[in-house]
Amino acid sequence: MAPAANRHRAGRHFLQIPGPSNVPDRILRAIDRPTIDHRGPEFGQLGRAVLDGMKRIFKTAGAVVIYPASGTGAWEAALVNTLSPGDAVLMAETGQFATLWRELAGRLGLQVEFIPGDWRHGADPEAIAARLRADAGRRIKAVAVVHNETSTGVVSRVPEIRRAIDAAGHDALLMVDTISSLASLDYRHDEWGVDVTVAGSQKGLMLPPGLSFNAIGARALAAHKTAKMPRSYWDWAAMLGPNATGYFPYTPGTNLLYGLAEAIAMLEEEGLDAVFRRHARHGEATRRAVRAWGLDILAADPAEYSGVLTAVVMPDGHDADALRAVILDHFDMSLGAGLGKVKGRIFRIGHLGDFNDLMLMGTLAGVEMGLTLAKVPSRAGGVAAAMAYLTETA
Ligand SMILES: *Cc1c(COP(=O)(O)O)cnc(C)c1O
Repeated sequence: MAPAANRHRAGRHFLQIPGPSNVPDRILRAIDRPTIDHRGPEFGQLGRAVLDGMKRIFKTAGAVVIYPASGTGAWEAALVNTLSPGDAVLMAETGQFATLWRELAGRLGLQVEFIPGDWRHGADPEAIAARLRADAGRRIKAVAVVHNETSTGVVSRVPEIRRAIDAAGHDALLMVDTISSLASLDYRHDEWGVDVTVAGSQKGLMLPPGLSFNAIGARALAAHKTAKMPRSYWDWAAMLGPNATGYFPYTPGTNLLYGLAEAIAMLEEEGLDAVFRRHARHGEATRRAVRAWGLDILAADPAEYSGVLTAVVMPDGHDADALRAVILDHFDMSLGAGLGKVKGRIFRIGHLGDFNDLMLMGTLAGVEMGLTLAKVPSRAGGVAAAMAYLTETA
């Protein structure tokens, strides 16, 4: 028999990591077209259509820029366009992605204050307010948080964080990473008073990796005018000029933009509120399965549960990566690994993007069978519990 990696596997692979998510056929077909001249007459229409469409997804009347880059690039863009060397940034340790953003900020020469966290809770609005009230010299120029912490399955309460900043009477910008939440969880850039929102293509937007976004509020644009961080590729001003007519300052990810136009159409056909309800329902069904198995959910506060993914804590002495290997080998399903501090201790079930009830049932069945095969102490009945909930709420 050929080695596992080369063996033909019948049927569809289950890509149940919390991003990249499954790319629907409609989007794959939309991408599969000839690349056009990005300076030619047709391109401007495509550019304007996706830039305007993304404003509706971010729920902003302000500007959106699209980079041919992974989400990490858009993290960097948010910081270098609004800040100056040595500025202080307040961040919260919600998990691995918050930690990576903090490290990136540090490498850029920003002074990061990192509010410690236990990786089971979102950013604490009270702790942010307390830190801002203590900042008499107004050294902190930005508060940067991750909306859906993909390493833990915990959602930070962005509107409460905005209110905490306002209550502290502080004028720091609010930056929010929605790389794994945009188009999956309720998000409102303007209404929630966010100054810069960061997003990526490969999670809720159902596209392959390769595009990332900044939504830019008026205060962020004003800060941009005096911000002194060195920037070239990421410069908003260089983007916004040509974007006015739908063009880009350098070669855009043209074929991914075809896919983005299709993704926006699909999200609007379903309706964003229905998309958010679908994710919330799948999150609840998954948590019911996990509880029936007798395992712990990493997210500690029900107000912060994620509809994008569920992180499951392994019983002591059992390795999550060994379980994931068994499930991949037997059932051709990829689950998310524990990252950073929780490596081997948890696994993550992605239930985001182009995903329906039967895909969830297949996913949970694969986990339940895997728990048995890997001899992880657990009970049967998770699939049945999720199925009962999906039936009740059908
Ligand atoms: C995936 C992810 C990132 C990293 O994005 P890349 O596209 O891998 O650079 C950052 N933040 C969050 C919350 C994510 O889910």
